[in-house]
Amino acid sequence: MRVYTSRLLGAEEDLVLHGGGNTSVKIKEKNIFGESEEILYVKGSGWDLATIEEPGFAPLKLDELSKLAELDHLSDLDMVKYQRMALTNPAAPNPSVEAILHGIIPYTFVDHTHADAVVVVTNTAKGAARIKEIYGENMLVVPYVMPGFILAKTIYQMTRDVDWDKLDGMILLNHGVFTFDNDGKTSYQKMIKIVSKAEKYLKQAGAKELKGPKVTKSDPLLLANIRKEVSDLWGQPVLGRLDKSPASIGFSNLPNVKSISNRGPLTPDHIIRTKRTPVNFNQDYKKNLQDYRKAYEKYFAQYNSGEQQLDPAPRWGVVPVMGTLSFGPTPKHVQIIEDITRHTKKAIVQAEILGGWKALGQKDLFEMEYWSLEQAKLKKAGKPKPMQGKIAIVTGAASGIGKACVEALVGAGAVVAALDISKGVLDEFSQPEVLPLTCDVTNESQLEKCLEQVIAQFGGIDMLVTNAGIFPKSARIEDMSDDIWKKSMDINVTSHQRLIQLCVPYLELGFDPAIVIMGSKNVPAPGPGASAYSVAKAALTQLARVAALELGEKGIRVNVLHPNAVYDTAIWTDEVLNARAKHYGLTVQQYKTNNVLQVEVTSNDVAELVVAMLGPTFSKVTGAQVPIDGGNERVI
Ligand code: ZN
Repeated sequence: MRVYTSRLLGAEEDLVLHGGGNTSVKIKEKNIFGESEEILYVKGSGWDLATIEEPGFAPLKLDELSKLAELDHLSDLDMVKYQRMALTNPAAPNPSVEAILHGIIPYTFVDHTHADAVVVVTNTAKGAARIKEIYGENMLVVPYVMPGFILAKTIYQMTRDVDWDKLDGMILLNHGVFTFDNDGKTSYQKMIKIVSKAEKYLKQAGAKELKGPKVTKSDPLLLANIRKEVSDLWGQPVLGRLDKSPASIGFSNLPNVKSISNRGPLTPDHIIRTKRTPVNFNQDYKKNLQDYRKAYEKYFAQYNSGEQQLDPAPRWGVVPVMGTLSFGPTPKHVQIIEDITRHTKKAIVQAEILGGWKALGQKDLFEMEYWSLEQAKLKKAGKPKPMQGKIAIVTGAASGIGKACVEALVGAGAVVAALDISKGVLDEFSQPEVLPLTCDVTNESQLEKCLEQVIAQFGGIDMLVTNAGIFPKSARIEDMSDDIWKKSMDINVTSHQRLIQLCVPYLELGFDPAIVIMGSKNVPAPGPGASAYSVAKAALTQLARVAALELGEKGIRVNVLHPNAVYDTAIWTDEVLNARAKHYGLTVQQYKTNNVLQVEVTSNDVAELVVAMLGPTFSKVTGAQVPIDGGNERVI
């Protein structure tokens, strides 16, 4: 029952978001000595109510935990320590920072959410009075204090002479709601009832859904510039995603968007994700970002007591007419910001109807932002991958070398736009790090549209793997058809030239920007019958050399790979392989390893080299041509 109703609460974004809220149950159990103990099972830190399972609840000896509430002071470090010491299972996760509070509420089931509607009502000028008006005398209303020990202590003292049985629940101003009952279902229902009342109140006051036009204006170069500036402030490359939902565009179109979005977060715990305010990305965005940095430094200087300043980069911003932008080092981070700010935007607009959004003061927010227990949540993420926050485009990505490149880049921490003319590309990738797009690379307007989508989704372009190509039917020069020749030139040369041309303005704004061009063994060692292919690949290689010369001054590196005999690609079916091997009087295995090193070269081998060439190992190399073929006598 505890897991079940926790998940019901977790499933509703309007109640809890990304690890917010917590629940508990008190159960009498016998310990190993046969003694009866009351155990508080409370949500463990790092678990999400939407997906929580039984091991996600930390079991604490209730009598030891309750004693903590009687202390005058308890530091964060001591709270974590003594809570762990009260656990009956040393392998359990750290108990929620609200464990002591759950412990002192004298009911079997306790539910806590950060319900939007309730918080919106409290985040207004007459918030406390409105809460009284909606819920009457039987609601315990708690003024804002820091969560954790101070909150537990405050409520412990407030409720000494209170008859809990008369309470319908507890509302914490600027924070959320608690309900409790000895029956799990009833406690859940009380929560829904309290939240529904606030929703009804907002509706009667005239609160509406945010709406905006569906038609969107886009300015990819502006977005890439913004992403560059924000990354510089952050001190590392980050992704930027444009939310162009009608609600988001509606928000960005509000005439007073600048003033209303600057008032603070929905609940204080959001500050570690979203920072205190967003930035306005109008035509003065560069100045606005510098002002944002200065304001952040001032805020830090004013309130810090020896902490180390975090980066001064915003986590989200408003792009007038276009929507809102969210930033983060990974798609997962960006998603969290986008989810939280979607609710924040709606809440801000609703609060306007009640006279205006009034978030907590800077001092309270600072304490929350720099609270060691909150910062610990962010540090859990571990060491970042080498290409975290970087954005790549790979063409010809549906199969073979292209597909392997997408996977290797994602493995290195990058996000990748995977372009292919085949619709199959859409089914090849489902991870949030990949944006699969169908695109005929010979069609300029399709390419432009794709780039627009890539920038809206990720914020820029740092790396380009121009891999799309065809191997046309063999024909001697005298038998070559115009169509075959022209098609090979279109796809194997001209499309690459156009893609590079279109990407240069974005690569210029990229981080350690680099291009890898897929050449061919046919460039240094052509074969008869393959003029359409070999000439195109030779021209492409020459294009790469000129590009290396031209783009070097912009810091963009251009290198070429010449793969050969990569047989795990779509063209090399078992049938073709057998026929070719037979033609040379070899077994398939001999045919595959018919090179100086006698090794088989796979798509993954090529992809690993591509990642290396795009990464720091090759940071001082441009204009290079590297064969990857196991060693070919003619090439050597
Ligand atoms: Zn809370």
